[in-house]
Amino acid sequence: MKIVLLDRDGTVLVDPPDRSVDRVDKIELYPDTIEALRYLADNDFAAIFVTNQTAIAEGKMDEAQYWRVHEAMMEQIQPSSLTVLKCYLCPHGPNDGCTCRKPKPGMLLDAIRDYGLDVRRVYMVGDRPTDVQAGQSAGVRSILVKTSELSECPSDVRPNYIATSLLDAVKYVVSNSH
Ligand SMILES: [Mg+2]
Repeated sequence: MKIVLLDRDGTVLVDPPDRSVDRVDKIELYPDTIEALRYLADNDFAAIFVTNQTAIAEGKMDEAQYWRVHEAMMEQIQPSSLTVLKCYLCPHGPNDGCTCRKPKPGMLLDAIRDYGLDVRRVYMVGDRPTDVQAGQSAGVRSILVKTSELSECPSDVRPNYIATSLLDAVKYVVSNSH
């Protein structure tokens, strides 16, 4: 089984206007989310989520609420049959001095260590330049999914591939992981 690292909000779930999926009723899949996750599953991939949840640091939700949303999301993506091995969560804000909040690579390094990942073959897929930077710092390959104006990359941030959708991204991952 191969593994792909996935950002959550703005990549697998639609990022809402206030930038936090802090309630179950704010979960919205992209039209191609299930197809994309099924494509991964059909090609013997499992996923690990790596997600910044600044809303926890901001006091908009607590970790218990985050996990309720997570469980509801897992139910909604279940038709894809994708195995999700783990979800690494950063609950901190930009000024907390943590080592996990993307663009820092802490969560990715934890995943690499915990699952013995081969960094030369693993992709980080996300919708923000900070996802790409975290991938670069962790030594893995990266794909930027352009889902909003926030996906615009500064010139020094160079993903291996820029995808137009999650489905486009996972097709690239499957074709280029050998
Ligand atoms: Mg995102």
